[in-house]
Amino acid sequence: MNSQTMDRPSGAPVIDLGVPVIGGSHTRSSAGTAGMSSTDAERSEKLAAMRAGELGSLHSWELVTAVDGPGTRLTTFLSGCPLRCLYCHNPDTMEMRRGEPISADELLKRIARYTKVFEVTGGGLTISGGEPLMQPAFVARILRGAKELGIHTAIDTSGYLGAHCSDQMLADIDLVLLDVKSGIPETYKKTTGRELQPTLDFGRRVADSGTEIWIRFVLVPGLTDAEENVEAVAEYVSTLSTVSRVEVLPFHQMGQDKWTALGMDYQLADTRAPSPELVERVRDQFRSHGLTVF
Ligand code: SF4
Repeated sequence: MNSQTMDRPSGAPVIDLGVPVIGGSHTRSSAGTAGMSSTDAERSEKLAAMRAGELGSLHSWELVTAVDGPGTRLTTFLSGCPLRCLYCHNPDTMEMRRGEPISADELLKRIARYTKVFEVTGGGLTISGGEPLMQPAFVARILRGAKELGIHTAIDTSGYLGAHCSDQMLADIDLVLLDVKSGIPETYKKTTGRELQPTLDFGRRVADSGTEIWIRFVLVPGLTDAEENVEAVAEYVSTLSTVSRVEVLPFHQMGQDKWTALGMDYQLADTRAPSPELVERVRDQFRSHGLTVF
């Protein structure tokens, strides 16, 4: 996820739809099974269901307009993420065990209820996280089901696990919201704890497939704002032929309380939101590469 979703600072109309629960709770946990098991037999059955994509781990969902893709979107936030972004606003999505189990059938039934809304607004389904590609079989099943219902589909991903996205899954995605968190490998590593290259590879593959891409870049003063870092992102993005927009998302402090509540070390406590001048400088850098910037 790009970190600015779910805890949205302003603007976007949001209806929180709560968390559909078919078992488990946020307080129970058992590694990898989202707090589901009570016996070993049940546990291994559920693990098998997760591997088959019949069962997923869901954090929450909400109905939003004008973000996460065109029209009104049902954005579902899945649990689990391999990155550790210093600015993550939803660190409670990082671990899959904190999610709630939901079956693919149940989720698809709920998605289907909004078909009319999607039709009228030109909207659709957006799968975010956490990182959707942590649960590739489940996501593939949801995307296939959504396409069978004629619903526009998007995933919001860092691309780090792009190798988990099969060609069939990619064919079922209409829009990729690709979060490029930095353009210089060292800065990417400092920001996320991981390597940049898988994101670059996935973006290239998505563009080569002809799938539309929206780029998201979170602007953090003192972390991602260096001219050469932004320039590296912009240069790369300008080579992806299917990018239709770039969103520069100014850092804000809305996630700090969650880090504290989880007992995690939040390193950006003294970081301020970027000034309007800095945001404009960065947007101009993207524009200078011929990109459409929001
Ligand atoms: S740690 Fe994961 S969920 Fe948080 S901002 Fe980074 S990619 Fe998104």
